[in-house]
Amino acid sequence: MTVPRHAEVVVVGGGAVGTSIAFHLAEAGVDVCLLERDALSSGSTSRAAGGVRTQFSDPLNIAIGLRGVEAFMRFSERPGGEIDFRQVGYLFLLDRPEDVQLFEQSVALQNELGVPSRLVEPDEAGRLSPLAGLDGVLAGTFCALDGHASPEAVAQGYASGARAHGATVVTGCTASAVATDDVHVRGVVTDQGTIQTDTVVCAAGVWSPAFARTAGVELPVEPVFREVVTTAPVEALPGPIPLTVDFTTGFYFHREGPGLLIGMSDRDQPPGFDAPTDPAWLEHVTEVAARRAPSFLDMGLAHGWKGYYEITPDHNALVGKAPDLARFFYATGFSGHGFMQAPAVGEIVRDLILDREPFVDVAPLSAERFERDTLRPEHNVI
Ligand SMILES: Cc1cc2nc3c(=O)[nH]c(=O)nc-3n(C[C@H](O)[C@H](O)[C@H](O)COP(=O)(O)OP(=O)(O)OC[C@H]3O[C@@H](n4cnc5c(N)ncnc54)[C@H](O)[C@@H]3O)c2cc1C
Repeated sequence: MTVPRHAEVVVVGGGAVGTSIAFHLAEAGVDVCLLERDALSSGSTSRAAGGVRTQFSDPLNIAIGLRGVEAFMRFSERPGGEIDFRQVGYLFLLDRPEDVQLFEQSVALQNELGVPSRLVEPDEAGRLSPLAGLDGVLAGTFCALDGHASPEAVAQGYASGARAHGATVVTGCTASAVATDDVHVRGVVTDQGTIQTDTVVCAAGVWSPAFARTAGVELPVEPVFREVVTTAPVEALPGPIPLTVDFTTGFYFHREGPGLLIGMSDRDQPPGFDAPTDPAWLEHVTEVAARRAPSFLDMGLAHGWKGYYEITPDHNALVGKAPDLARFFYATGFSGHGFMQAPAVGEIVRDLILDREPFVDVAPLSAERFERDTLRPEHNVI
């Protein structure tokens, strides 16, 4: 596919977020061109563990999470495609009294906003997640709406849906700069020619700051490596296994085909594209697993991978438009929950572009919050 000479909107980045934005715009009748420099999903999206949840501490993230769950439930009808969405729930295990208190507050807020999450006693946590080790666990929280799905399938589904509504999806094409007259977007320069447009969306994941800077826009996003492993097939895994998270360590697991996927955040991991990862990471995982998923110690490993979280200073997304360059929009910095937020963010960015009122006010997610010192910390991040 060659790049068009003109498009009403150019979306840069073919991950879950960019493809969702392209789909929502194309469905609304907008002439949209999506540019991906490699293959669709080749960035963080293909590295994601696929977790989908509504259990956040920030009301905006709760609303965005709920909208995402609803979209994933109907994905086969709109945009279409099988995404293996398993609503097995998310179970947070809490072993620090201060976290129990904070999660109690989060659950109250989630319930107010229509999310059926609840606090559970340790023995119920054990019944919900039979592989979990509960040593020292004081309480848990559980929401049956949550679960996991296939990130690549979601991006493919949105890209196919966008194409079906007339969008141009170009892979293997790098957007190198935004052409401007200082106050307006005039085009997007690519390695295959310039596309004339007055509207651009930066959805380039951890690479967003570099692209946005060509337009004079600063987006505070840093790449931080995160790693997961999958186990070899396990005989007789128990029935539904919720995505189970040990909140203190960031250790989590869920069913992945015939085995498990296991991840753990290294909270001391320095940011940077080439930052070294801890060679002892798997040893740390094994130490935590001995307490939180003891049967993991008897499972063989199949393979593993790492990818980037796109971290902002307050672990909340950047969604909005540049203050000084008309019609430069951005959606990035999801800090480890961009896959699950992609459906709602696609809808929101469509509405910002078409000057409609989005279903939530995303003004607090603007990048300007860092200049105004109005941070918006999300507590429930792993
Ligand atoms: C180990 C791990 C586990 C995770 N688990 C979860 C999870 O359970 N749930 C969840 O919601 N999230 C999870 N995440 C986070 C999630 O992967 C990201 O938040 C999400 O994929 C971001 O999607 P995106 O579309 O914004 O970015 P990306 O998927 O990174 O897409 C950006 C795309 O832009 C392209 N690009 C960049 N620059 C240019 C350019 N100049 N021109 C053209 N194309 C360009 C890149 O090639 C890339 O494909 C996890 C991440 C990791 C690493």
